[in-house]
Amino acid sequence: MDDQSKPKLSLRTLAAQALGIYEPTTMGLVPPIHAATTFIRDPDNGYRSGHVYGRTDNVTIQHAEDVIAALEGADEALLFGSGMAAATAVFLALEMPTHIVASKVMYWGLRSWLQDIGRYGHSITFVDTARLEDVRQAVKPGQTGLFWIETPSNPLWTVTDIEAVAEIAHASDALLCVDSTVSTPVFTRPLNLGADIVMHSATKYLNGHSDVSAGALAVIQGGSLWSRIKQNRRNQGTVIGPFEAWLLTRGMRTLDVRVRAQATAATFLAEKLVGHPAISDVLYPGLTTHPGHDIAERQMTGGFGGMLSIRIKDGEKVAIETAARVRLWKRATSLGGIESLIEHRSSIEGAGSPCPMDLLRLSVGLEDKDELYSDLVQALRI
Ligand code: PLP
Repeated sequence: MDDQSKPKLSLRTLAAQALGIYEPTTMGLVPPIHAATTFIRDPDNGYRSGHVYGRTDNVTIQHAEDVIAALEGADEALLFGSGMAAATAVFLALEMPTHIVASKVMYWGLRSWLQDIGRYGHSITFVDTARLEDVRQAVKPGQTGLFWIETPSNPLWTVTDIEAVAEIAHASDALLCVDSTVSTPVFTRPLNLGADIVMHSATKYLNGHSDVSAGALAVIQGGSLWSRIKQNRRNQGTVIGPFEAWLLTRGMRTLDVRVRAQATAATFLAEKLVGHPAISDVLYPGLTTHPGHDIAERQMTGGFGGMLSIRIKDGEKVAIETAARVRLWKRATSLGGIESLIEHRSSIEGAGSPCPMDLLRLSVGLEDKDELYSDLVQALRI
């Protein structure tokens, strides 16, 4: 079948079959892990296999990248050893000096790193990217080269209009990169909405089993920034390892099923928790009361994700005590795995964080949603 006559497959099918790659020697249905870091040269000094050295050529890593590119509707994807390695790769490949506009509320680790971006010769303005007027006003004509948004963003689940920010970015000859870790390609494909680069902490939903550290970037048509990102990864060796890439491909096979179930359970929990006497606010883009709900409905097709936060009426101490009383939920950082996690978020973000002290972040896993609800309710005291 040539490419033209191939049926256009759904994300669920593409992911489940991991693009249909198998092991041709034994006809094993599951591709092996290619661990080789070096390859044999031909007697005539050539490399007919096309493979030379592990840091640059690895079939197992390439396979995982091809799956991500297919899921995101991208031409090309690159995998790194963590989400932070992927995110920082974008900033470290910018022409110097570049002015960056970024979401005020985002994954705290990246925000902390960006606060010090001046040491790399760049400057940054943090804005509430849900407020498009603020985004427009942050532009420094001739200087702004990159917009960085995370949507929905950690841990308030603020929603940013990707299409609108892409328009603002392109009008100022800048690029837009979207951290789409929380939405996943199941619900949002930022590249189809005008973003230039999509980024994932693949440690989270893409892998989904809390056992791989990985980060991904993907593009439709990579320009000069993309070439520099690739060159830097090659030279700096920030690439993921083959075993992690293999596990990631295995995890992605169930991505669609997992995140849809997690989003259904998160919606159930958010709706049930609204109005609980111990809770002052439930933050979830799927609630019609969420300020970003209308945009989320437009750009998150099929679900609002598996992340929500609750604010405890009686403040920080009671929030920490509530997290201490859960039996089923696990008290841990991170998100997107099969096990449900609860976290007093400001304890990890520390001073200067925009996260309210009374906030508990919930990453909904794949356990029974009624059992998760009962466990939370017994932990909440009035
Ligand atoms: N982006 C988001 C939205 C995250 O939640 C995280 C980690 O929590 C990162 C990026 C960083 O990813 P990693 O921990 O894989 O380096």
